[in-house]
Amino acid sequence: MSYQFVIVGACLSGLSKAFFIKHLFPKAKITLIEQSNRIGGMIQTRKENQNQFIFEEGPHSIKIGRYDRPLFYMIDKIGLYPELVTSIQQPYNYIYWKDELKSVPQRMNFETISRFIKDHGKEELLNLIKAYPKLLLNKQVTDNLGEYLDEILGKELTKKYAETVYYGSYGESVYNLSRNMCFDKIYMQSYDEVELKKDLIYDKEFEQIRDKKLRKAHSYRFTYGLESLPKRLLRYLKDNLRENFEIYLDTKVQELNIEQKELIIEKEDKNIQKIYYDKLLLNVPSSQIATMIQNQSLDKLKEDLKKIKYTSLITRNICWDQKILPRNFRGSGYLINPNENKNILGMVTDSLQFPMQYPQDSTSVTVLSLKDVEDDQILKELSIHLGMNIQDPKMIIKKNWMDCWIKWNPGYFDKMMMIEKELEEKSIIIGANHFTMSIPELVYLSYSKMKQLYV
Ligand SMILES: Cc1cc2nc3c(=O)[nH]c(=O)nc-3n(C[C@H](O)[C@H](O)[C@H](O)COP(=O)(O)OP(=O)(O)OC[C@H]3O[C@@H](n4cnc5c(N)ncnc54)[C@H](O)[C@@H]3O)c2cc1C
Repeated sequence: MSYQFVIVGACLSGLSKAFFIKHLFPKAKITLIEQSNRIGGMIQTRKENQNQFIFEEGPHSIKIGRYDRPLFYMIDKIGLYPELVTSIQQPYNYIYWKDELKSVPQRMNFETISRFIKDHGKEELLNLIKAYPKLLLNKQVTDNLGEYLDEILGKELTKKYAETVYYGSYGESVYNLSRNMCFDKIYMQSYDEVELKKDLIYDKEFEQIRDKKLRKAHSYRFTYGLESLPKRLLRYLKDNLRENFEIYLDTKVQELNIEQKELIIEKEDKNIQKIYYDKLLLNVPSSQIATMIQNQSLDKLKEDLKKIKYTSLITRNICWDQKILPRNFRGSGYLINPNENKNILGMVTDSLQFPMQYPQDSTSVTVLSLKDVEDDQILKELSIHLGMNIQDPKMIIKKNWMDCWIKWNPGYFDKMMMIEKELEEKSIIIGANHFTMSIPELVYLSYSKMKQLYV
């Protein structure tokens, strides 16, 4: 089939869709439209100090997990696998609770369990173990994650553990989050490894390198940063699709005429152009989709799109020439319980996880916060959390991420399914970022959406 696909957003959602279109519809024509002057969207790598420091300003690393096949397939085909850099897994994560950092094992062994008992007590360990079977059997119908976890863990454990983990990951209390979206990941239910293996076949060399490098790792990056992923994807698309592929940077979508299947875009040189599509793939925030749609008959849909709420956050990549973390700190980071009322949401220890990407004996961490406060305030809080005076960083790179994470409130999935269905009837497919923030899941959803069109 020689469809004309128009993709808005040259980010991972957009580029991975283009990649799978090439896989499934070799004759298709693809036009990519991106409003900024760069590709990659939230994936942003910055190199400093003659490339000695690699800062990941957006996603910090890619977690290895159950949903990896489409992403690995892509990494294989674009030839990025020799650049896989794997994490050194730390034994702990920490939670900040009642003015102290407390350990949570990242892997179970005698040492980590003993440390857990020392930090939290034997009874708490037993309570968590007892809750586990309930997790598998519980049939509660509520989509309110907090209420669901209260049932399983009890209020105390929910307050201590679940609130910390989910607040750090979504910037929201568990009582405002959807169980379907954040816990059960209902949108991943169609993932079928056996089926995928038939369609997405790895090269032998890739499998060997992946197995050798990733065997003990928890997550990975690439030698020249995560931004290599979108960059290499773009190169692959240009090389393989040639005249069937075009990309417009610095180009804004002004209007979307659904009846005429037409986009009106304003290009870098201020020229206005109309672009016809068979299938339109929109990987932009829902408010932007609402603004593009002009048809009055779709006012209800526009209102629903506008109602989707987003969280904004601030990241700081901070580095020092020397080691600054306490000697006994052996974690990939820590998260803060919202009841502690701190500015910091959590901290990630980049240089402990990926020491090969930083100068020897240096330290690099990423700090996340919801509120915009002074750097000094952040350093003061870090000092309190780590129990030592932390000052004079070599560099702080601060970034405001406006409306970057969707607030997945209870009921979100059902509402989004209705919006998605209505748009699909009009040949419009929305980005996977409406369902997940995890890169492997995002790539799978890009694949499965394109596969549905194929069938
Ligand atoms: C601070 C932070 C940390 C994260 N950490 C991790 C992590 O460690 N691991 C992980 O797996 N994920 C992480 N994520 C999530 C991950 O980065 C995102 O889920 C993913 O990059 C989203 O990609 P996307 O392609 O869906 O959208 P985006 O990257 O948001 O791209 C949207 C694109 O659309 C363009 N655009 C917007 N409007 C228009 C328009 N009108 N016309 C044309 N173009 C437009 C934008 O310029 C942008 O390029 C993190 C995210 C953030 C912000």
